[in-house]
Amino acid sequence: MKFDTAYSLSLDDKLSIYDVRELNFDETAAYDSEQDSFLCPNDACRGAFDTGNALGTFNAKNVNYVRTPHFKNKTSTRHIEGCRYASTHKAAAGENDDEREDNFPSEWVLTRRQYPRKPAPAGTEGSLPQAHTKVPSPQATPSHGASDHTPDKTSVFAHPVECYVSNIDDKDTLKRMPLKIGDHTATYWAFFKKIEYLQDNKGLIYWGKIKAIKDYTSSFRIDFEKKVWHDKKPYSVNVYLSKKLIDNYRKRTAFLEQIKAAASSERSLYCFFYGVTPELKQVPSKKNPEQTFGVFSANIENLDHLIIREAPRVE
Ligand SMILES: [Zn+2]
Repeated sequence: MKFDTAYSLSLDDKLSIYDVRELNFDETAAYDSEQDSFLCPNDACRGAFDTGNALGTFNAKNVNYVRTPHFKNKTSTRHIEGCRYASTHKAAAGENDDEREDNFPSEWVLTRRQYPRKPAPAGTEGSLPQAHTKVPSPQATPSHGASDHTPDKTSVFAHPVECYVSNIDDKDTLKRMPLKIGDHTATYWAFFKKIEYLQDNKGLIYWGKIKAIKDYTSSFRIDFEKKVWHDKKPYSVNVYLSKKLIDNYRKRTAFLEQIKAAASSERSLYCFFYGVTPELKQVPSKKNPEQTFGVFSANIENLDHLIIREAPRVE
């Protein structure tokens, strides 16, 4: 059983691994997942052990991750009998399972989740008797409350993208799993649109292989490999990231590290974005400014809705 969420001791709330990544890279609020403790999200199970019975994290702080991020049991992690997070896998089988994201959120919320900090650290002595009254015995029936089940919503773009990319070879699942974005509900399969077909529909998640990333030091242009056919002619597609957009981004350092590494990378990289649809524009030719040429282009408006990453199964 994989962890869809884990209980964060410092935030006193359940977080997905994508929330943890958000928090780690956010420069506007102090957070370090290595200083936090993640416990079983099953309230009954967590209550049965002390706070030292923690989980590990994988890819919580790696900007350019390849394998699906996740929480994991440590060799010392214990669960009560019947806890659905108690791993029955052998270590080797568990490793394979972790390559796929199988917690599909049914809604991607476009506004950012707030992560309120605990007002004051709970005094361990003071809260202990009270806490004890809630602690069930390890034999207690495991909780089936809604709170320990897969979260229906995520506000982190990386989560639905990971679902799509890590299951790209499983079309049946992608065509079955529902996804809501804003007022629209479709399947994962329908929401992700290859960049060369961007004229088919607006308001989708467009994605494609990156041909080049033009680094203008403080702004960037991402060129896609595939072209769009329009009136029987092929046109290049790109998205532009302005200096202002990047400078005001709360994850600026992590983003710059990522895009600069991507710009000089030899590996196959893909760009996913949402919120804008590239449109045909006439731009002046560099060689001959009198002349213009057509290109499908868009200015990215929200860096939370753009991802550059590897996608091994796509190839
Ligand atoms: Zn548990």
